[in-house]
Amino acid sequence: MSIKENLHSIHQEIETVCKEWGRDPAGVNLMAVSKMQSAQSIHEALDAGQRLFGENRVQEAQEHWQAIRDSGDYEDLQLHLIGPLQTNKVKDAVALFDVIQTIDREKLAVKLANEMAEQNRDLPCFIQVNTGLEDQKAGIAPQAVSEFYDMCKYECGLDIAGLMCIPPLDDPPALHFGLLKQLAEDVGLSQLSMGMSGDYERAIPLGSTIIRVGTGIFGARS
Ligand SMILES: *Cc1c(COP(=O)(O)O)cnc(C)c1O
Repeated sequence: MSIKENLHSIHQEIETVCKEWGRDPAGVNLMAVSKMQSAQSIHEALDAGQRLFGENRVQEAQEHWQAIRDSGDYEDLQLHLIGPLQTNKVKDAVALFDVIQTIDREKLAVKLANEMAEQNRDLPCFIQVNTGLEDQKAGIAPQAVSEFYDMCKYECGLDIAGLMCIPPLDDPPALHFGLLKQLAEDVGLSQLSMGMSGDYERAIPLGSTIIRVGTGIFGARS
């Protein structure tokens, strides 16, 4: 199937799941994760009307998107950073992205806030939560989310829009989606970035507002 057909069938699936669970499909945003995809594939997605994209690495995102951004052809383009952010890349990230989804430590929050002030850009941010408490995964521990949120919001002045998670591979994802939803409710956040190609149907009933789909749209990564 083509990228356009994949996008279409995922939109249909979103509608089906939303109907089943009494959700408005307009509240579920489909992000196309374009990491490790070709320029041609990215253009196919743009041609099919896709405007929300996610990238994992700052440098790769610049290679993929800077020229497209500068062309001014897609004014409604939305680029989210969904991979780990090193503090030495904060400047470039603030310049390129519209949303940072991976705030996971105080030092990064402080640096982001300073850089946004410097560039006069106020990007919405998500706190990444390590719902499975995995050593190799970034993110704030569930029990520390509330305190971290207060620090980001009241000490750094960041615009925190929601929470994001990547569940462990070998756990039922619904446990983690349910936990993220609960944590967001506890601090009064409405945006939930959760669900990928393999599990977005399970993230929607649990309140996902952004599903991040790579291979399901573009096929396998090169
Ligand atoms: C790669 C990636 C995705 C997309 O994964 P697929 O399984 O290809 O849909 C989603 N979220 C994050 C954080 C990723 O790194």
